[in-house]
Amino acid sequence: MNLPKGIESILIDKETIESKVTELANIIDNNYKDIETPLVVIGLLKGSFIFMSDLVKQMQTPLQVDFMIASSYGDSMENTEVSIIKDIETHISGRHVLIVEDIIDTGITLTKIENILSNRNPKSMKICTLLNKPSRRTSEVNIDFNGFDIDDHFVGGMGLDYAQKYRNLPYIGVVKNEKL
Ligand code: 5GP
Ligand code: MG
Ligand code: MG
Repeated sequence: MNLPKGIESILIDKETIESKVTELANIIDNNYKDIETPLVVIGLLKGSFIFMSDLVKQMQTPLQVDFMIASSYGDSMENTEVSIIKDIETHISGRHVLIVEDIIDTGITLTKIENILSNRNPKSMKICTLLNKPSRRTSEVNIDFNGFDIDDHFVGGMGLDYAQKYRNLPYIGVVKNEKL
């Protein structure tokens, strides 16, 4: 396959991701099979947009969606401050909440978002991520539904970017560690 300039290799191919998304959707449906109110699925933009849409298409659980924007990385590979740029519009008090993330790296972003959302008294709050980099963790996060553990590569595709590029790639690729 012809890879875009700046992607050095494919880490997880399209078919492997598709079957993992189906598997996760089944596990999540099973977890919420007795739910009494629609699940509130909250995607963290922009990175989760493709994974979240693929995931909810496969789910049978009654649900609604909302989105939040938190900035963590700028246009560099260095981590930056976490700030909430766009909040959800849904009242989550007494509701079951599922947070959908593209990748959990240090865990700082998710820890902050978990704190903010748990102050609003959801009935339950769980976390689903497509990718996890356990070796980079500095802030403990309890992941309920995990797609893939990966080594410490900087990756793009399936919603994840490098300097806003590569989000549309249907696979997870390793970004070349150099100025592009
Ligand atoms: P954390 O706060 O867990 O360190 O960072 C989480 C966010 O950092 C992710 O949601 C994602 O936006 C960004 N991030 C962390 N690792 C990667 C990576 O390998 N590739 C890309 N594109 N973004 C990453
Ligand atoms: Mg993210
Ligand atoms: Mg990014």
